[in-house]
Formats: sequence, C-alpha cells, structure tokens
Amino acid sequence: MNLDNNQECSSRNIPLPIQREVRQRCGFGCVICGMPLYEYEHMEEWAEVKRHVAEEITLLCDQHHREKTGGLLPKEVVKEADKNPYNLRKGVSKPYNLHFAGKEAKVEIGGNSFTCQDRGYGTAMVPISVDGTPLIGLVLADGHLLLNVVIFDEFNAPVLHIKNNQLYYSTSPWDIQLVGTKLTLREAHRKILLEIDFYPPNRVVIERGRFLRNGVEILVRPSNLLVTNNSTLLSGNHAHNCYGGLIIGYHEKPIGGFMAIAGVPRYLGDRKEALKFERESLSRIEQASPK
Ligand SMILES: [Zn+2]
Repeated sequence: MNLDNNQECSSRNIPLPIQREVRQRCGFGCVICGMPLYEYEHMEEWAEVKRHVAEEITLLCDQHHREKTGGLLPKEVVKEADKNPYNLRKGVSKPYNLHFAGKEAKVEIGGNSFTCQDRGYGTAMVPISVDGTPLIGLVLADGHLLLNVVIFDEFNAPVLHIKNNQLYYSTSPWDIQLVGTKLTLREAHRKILLEIDFYPPNRVVIERGRFLRNGVEILVRPSNLLVTNNSTLLSGNHAHNCYGGLIIGYHEKPIGGFMAIAGVPRYLGDRKEALKFERESLSRIEQASPK
C-alpha cells in the first residue's frame, strides 16, 4: 500500500490515478449490481480515515449508495461485494460493462455520425460542444468507455454532471436506467433528457436528448439534430477521423466535427417556428424518399 501522497488528505476529491485503480479493481461498475454509472465510496468512514487509498474505496451506483447511507445496506455487505464485484463474477453476463475494443470508434448522434481512431488511454470524443463546454463526451480508457455529460437548465445552471462515469453532481433526484445496453436519463419521472445506446465493442448511438447552454438549445432525435435558435436541422452528416460532432460557438482549442457553427443567435429563437420547420422538413424528406 502506497500512502505517500494519500495520507491525511483534506480534500474529498479522489486523485485520478486512484480513481482509475478503483475502477479497474471493481470491474467498471457498482460492486453490488454492476451499474456503470457510480460514485466512489470510502468503505471506512471518511471522517475517520481522511485519506484516499484505492483498496479502501469502492464503486456504488446511486441507488446502492443511498441505501448504504440510509443504513439499508450494511457496510459488511459492501465489503464482501468489493472483494467479488458484480462485473467480475464468473458466469455473470456483462451487459452493463461499457466495453470498448478495436482501433476505431463510431459515434452516431441524431442521424449524423463521426468515426475516430483510438489514440490510446484518454482518447476523447465530443458529440456536442457549445462555447468550449463539451455537453456530452466519451473517453476511451483501459478498454472501456467513460461517459461525460453536463446538463444545464433554462437558467444556465448545471443540474447533472457525470464525469468519467462518476455521478459527480446533481441537484434533484434523477432517474437513471440501464436496460440491456440502453442508458436513459430522466429528470424525476418526467421526459427523457438523454438516451444512449452502447453497441460494444466500438459504437455508441445517442438517440434522444435535450441540451441547453448559454441560450442555445439542441434537440437530439433518432433521425436528426435540431438547433431551435435558428432552425438548423442536421441529418445524414458524416465525418471520418474526427473527434467531434456538432460544435457551436468559440472554442479555444478547436475541435473538428461534422458541423461547426460559429454564430448562433442566443435566447432569441422562436421555438415554435423551429419545431414547425422540423416537422415540415421531415415530412418533405419522407415524401421524397423512395418507397
Ligand atoms: Zn448498484
């Protein structure tokens, strides 16, 4: 055990190399149920140990974390599961493991797509970015995909933050479901805010979503993307050997994408008109396509 840097930490932020070690040891999922979105949990009370040691930290999903905090899930059960994590158990099917393999990854979003080469640990893909903030990102790491999502509300305040599969921050209870390889995020029991399908080993499809940032609204549909501010409808764009998708606004470090839009009118769009335009455009496309 190497305690050099970790003894008596004052910060609750777990250093990244330790996070990586914990992820690998726990099979990239909640040790109880395998869910690939999780929180880092100190098995010993943080107030007592005040240190970050990989062996003392485990992964729990939102639900099991709450059960442990509420006393429904005994510490001993968590410790047992930590020794034999769900995703590493023999004979357990692994639909939950966001496994990645191959030289190339493909991201499809709203009927558009891009492919990129695996450049090794930490290769990042950015399907949507606004003003330098990636709203959704995927990182290739140790043969797994790490999901990054920031959801902002109408007032431009972050309401949910997932950082490398870690549920980092949320203001209200979120409903996060994983059925098979489909991940759905809902705000409480309301409408879907994000729906992602993982097709191991190297394809990710973002089917639905609503992204807001700095007065820009982007809607992701199964067949198209819509920027409601200026009725930009995107469908059928493909970029190869590229690390981005729809890139809006100024980026200090430029990202290539299948579409980059520098100037978008903010907060001013006529949402109703944009939705009407989308309906009309899609029905025209439908009529024009051969039966
Ligand atoms: Zn769990």
